Amino acid sequence: MQPFTTILAPVDFSDTSDSAFRMALFLARQGGARLVVLHVIDETMDFSGFYVPHPSLDRMDQEFVKGATRMMTDFCRRELGGYVNVATSIVHGVPYKEILRAAEESAASLIVLGTHGRSGIERVAFGSTAERVVRRALCPVLTVPLSAG
Ligand code: AMP
Repeated sequence: MQPFTTILAPVDFSDTSDSAFRMALFLARQGGARLVVLHVIDETMDFSGFYVPHPSLDRMDQEFVKGATRMMTDFCRRELGGYVNVATSIVHGVPYKEILRAAEESAASLIVLGTHGRSGIERVAFGSTAERVVRRALCPVLTVPLSAG
């Protein structure tokens, strides 16, 4: 059995994702693992094409990146508690696909994510990102409910 050397923590800045992140950080501290904090700017909403001219789209995109970067900086300042073996990443795309891609690219040995995200649909056992990652990931996945953080 190998120790977890790289832990991927996808965060959408929801309460449940915060809870999962604390678990990821706890495990990283215990084993001295590298912690990769990933946020995906969700592109499942397709604004391209007909109604919005491209210059506006470009500006909107820049604003999204700026906002996401600010949120990530604040998040890390608030949550990391001095842990330094950390890499952050902000990418565009479909969250579950980018989480799986990041897991592969960073050679993650564990993914830690919330059971739910910003959609806040608590009726189902897992949110759709969590379920898709659990079904497809090639490494172990730990899902953390809000109450566990
Ligand atoms: P969901 O399945 O979408 O309700 O979200 C479950 C968990 O997936 C969240 O608690 C996060 O850990 C992760 N997640 C969801 N959306 C994103 C995103 N856009 N970027 C990074 N992680 C995400």
